[in-house]
Amino acid sequence: MKLKNKVVLITGSTHGIGASMTVAFAKQGAKVLVNGRHEEMPEELKSELEAAGATYHYLQADLAQSDLKAFAEEAWDVYGQIDVLINNAGIGRDKMFIGMREHDYDEVMNLDLKVPFFLTKAILKKMNKQRSGVIINMSSVVGLHGNAGQANYAAAKAGLVGLTKSVAREAALRSIRVNAIAPGMIDTEMTQKLSERVKENILQQIPLKRWGEPSEIAQTAIFLAQNDYITGQTVVVDGGMTI
Ligand code: NAD
Repeated sequence: MKLKNKVVLITGSTHGIGASMTVAFAKQGAKVLVNGRHEEMPEELKSELEAAGATYHYLQADLAQSDLKAFAEEAWDVYGQIDVLINNAGIGRDKMFIGMREHDYDEVMNLDLKVPFFLTKAILKKMNKQRSGVIINMSSVVGLHGNAGQANYAAAKAGLVGLTKSVAREAALRSIRVNAIAPGMIDTEMTQKLSERVKENILQQIPLKRWGEPSEIAQTAIFLAQNDYITGQTVVVDGGMTI
């Protein structure tokens, strides 16, 4: 897929990996639909998009509490099409399994799995009519290998891998591709919260001896959007952490 003038919707895209993907797709000439919970887009992201000469539109929505069918309609109508959907918004509520409450499970499963499930459903219906499209789900190495203190997050991210493979098989009938990315440790607000001891411990497990940059996940998303013969895959981007 050539990205010039294609429309890309990225959920949770005002910060971190989502913001980096937004700028990267805009630099390829795509029109980007930015989503965040606050009334206004952060100034920093606005300036970056404007410096890139981007065509963009901001959709304010807390997806954990939104009518996803209505959100999909609103997003689609901005430019009359969506060519790439990236289910990126995600949260963690880490606790050891024994102490994990139903609320910790529900919050994570809702935003990290249920929202991608139903947003994909709403957008795919429209992509089917368009007979083209690409969907990318943001999973995690934790969904492939598990992690102490993240049973809820691992379950949601593993669920995304199954969702990706199943929808890929169905959507291929209309040449629509569905893939996932499983990042390792990427330097964003989500991971900056970890204690220095935990960070040091994780670093020891990464053969490339550094954390990943959000731009390295953005490059992967662009590759998956452009390569017309990859579907149903989960691409691991983790500096060798899970070799
Ligand atoms: P981040 O916390 O920096 O950003 C998450 C984004 O989601 C933010 O823009 C936030 O505003 C948005 N968001 C949160 N709740 C939302 C809601 N209810 N509605 C709409 N948007 C909401 O996290 P990140 O590191 O950039 O993570 C992006 C994705 O990548 C997530 O799905 C995360 O699970 C996944 N991931 C991250 C890492 C990592 O190391 N950073 C590793 C593996 C997977």
